[in-house]
Amino acid sequence: MTAKGGMSFSAGASDFGCTNERPSENLVRSMEVSQLATHAVVIGGSLAGMCAARVLSERFDKVTVLERDAVPAGVSDRAGVPQGRHNHGIMIRALREYEWLFPKFERLMLERSANYDDPNWDFARLTPDGWLPRFRSGMRTVWVSRAMIEAAVRDLFREIPNATTIERSQVIGLTARAVAGRLTCTGVETPAGPIHADLVVDASGASSHAPEWFRRLGVDPPRETVVDPDAGYASRWFKGPDSQRWPRDWWWHTIAIVRCPGQRFEAIFGRKENARWHLTIAGFNGDYPPTKEDEFMALLPKLRSPVMAEMAKLMEPDSPVYAFRRMDNRWRHYESWGARPAGFIAVGDAVCVTNPVYAFGISKAAVAARILRDCLERHGPTGAFESSFFSRLARFNRDPWRISIALDLRFPFTRGEQPPSLRLFNWYFAQVSRAAARDASIRNRLDEVMNLLRPASSLFAPRVVARVIAAQASHGLRPSAGVPDGVPHFPPPG
Ligand SMILES: Cc1cc2nc3c(=O)[nH]c(=O)nc-3n(C[C@H](O)[C@H](O)[C@H](O)COP(=O)(O)OP(=O)(O)OC[C@H]3O[C@@H](n4cnc5c(N)ncnc54)[C@H](O)[C@@H]3O)c2cc1C
Repeated sequence: MTAKGGMSFSAGASDFGCTNERPSENLVRSMEVSQLATHAVVIGGSLAGMCAARVLSERFDKVTVLERDAVPAGVSDRAGVPQGRHNHGIMIRALREYEWLFPKFERLMLERSANYDDPNWDFARLTPDGWLPRFRSGMRTVWVSRAMIEAAVRDLFREIPNATTIERSQVIGLTARAVAGRLTCTGVETPAGPIHADLVVDASGASSHAPEWFRRLGVDPPRETVVDPDAGYASRWFKGPDSQRWPRDWWWHTIAIVRCPGQRFEAIFGRKENARWHLTIAGFNGDYPPTKEDEFMALLPKLRSPVMAEMAKLMEPDSPVYAFRRMDNRWRHYESWGARPAGFIAVGDAVCVTNPVYAFGISKAAVAARILRDCLERHGPTGAFESSFFSRLARFNRDPWRISIALDLRFPFTRGEQPPSLRLFNWYFAQVSRAAARDASIRNRLDEVMNLLRPASSLFAPRVVARVIAAQASHGLRPSAGVPDGVPHFPPPG
């Protein structure tokens, strides 16, 4: 980035946790050594693309983002991100990373009528073992629509002087040639002709065509691992309730009914910007939630708690019911790809998609940019840069990936191989989740892991293991299929 805030990294630092320092000396230093290359092209102008372009703008004279959609002027859904109509939670890690990449990000969302929420105080969750106890955690995030997140990032991105987005510009292939015996990506193909680039970044999301483009260049694409719970979402907006009729002891701003064995659906119903509420229901194993409006509403009283049906009675539907069906975990293994060409990397969902139910994607998109910046600083955009980037990205993605597939593979219908090492992880993770419902310190640790603030290995710290065993010994902690005896159907008053 040129005339704006710089960022600080310690090379080789863990990619968990992050710093918000932005010393300007680093920025000046980056600019002094930034003459190694001139043009970077990013394919896709969504979150991963804009985050990557933000850090590339520090190193390259010019950054061009090619986006196949028309770019909306304000907060609006668009065809290229069909997931935008469904619930998007910003995890704590994501909030920190976007604020670091785009200072003023939080302020902009608050100015646009978002609110801060404490995920353990304002968020009611019905787990297989009952309602999670409520406590003030000191963590805070904002619950807004996906369109609002993207609009805030886009508005701040527009302030970068040497980065531009070209809308309605679809990439249809890559160009490459051999340089010193190594395949080197030299740009992209568009219907208007080729565009030269010193670095091409694929940020075109889960449906990336890069594997096919490489095949056309005569190169085998990276292998993929897929774990598919065959899940689907159905979502609808509501106009917020009349506060006069909203019961005083309904304290939550977001409420979730978490999936458990024996149940067909899980759901999340939350307050977003402009006093609108948003409800997403998820179904698994091809048993998708209904998308006809009357059937969608008729499903609400049949969920594991009737609370969402009661809430919806106090609101007015404000949209049709939207459906989304592609929810698989998919990892394109660029980190072990033998053919890896120079001048090409990929970020965000184009590399590793995790089941959106666990809300890792927005964070992963931003952390990829952090890693990208670090690798550019260490290696420059030549030599060992691509392999170092992909290796570090893979190390970071491993946790969200393992957690996501571990949780999905608890269900027998999920398609995908379960490596033996994952069995122990799955089993222990399930014990931790159950113990977290009883023990606030385990819950805090689990929250930190799920928010990508700590590595999953921190769940295996001796102190945590001892508390999990203690919780197990005192409560038995068997998973339950329905609301266990004695568990209220509504969240206990706060
Ligand atoms: C249903 C659903 C719910 C989700 N909920 C959450 C959540 O709660 N929390 C969370 O953290 N994450 C969530 N995610 C994940 C999150 O949406 C993504 O991880 C995030 O958008 C970052 O993705 P991306 O930028 O890599 O790709 P995308 O957001 O998918 O964007 C890809 C972009 O590339 C453009 N494009 C594609 N092909 C081309 C081309 N050939 N040429 C030019 N442009 C192209 C597209 O138009 C689009 O703008 C959810 C995902 C889904 C599917």
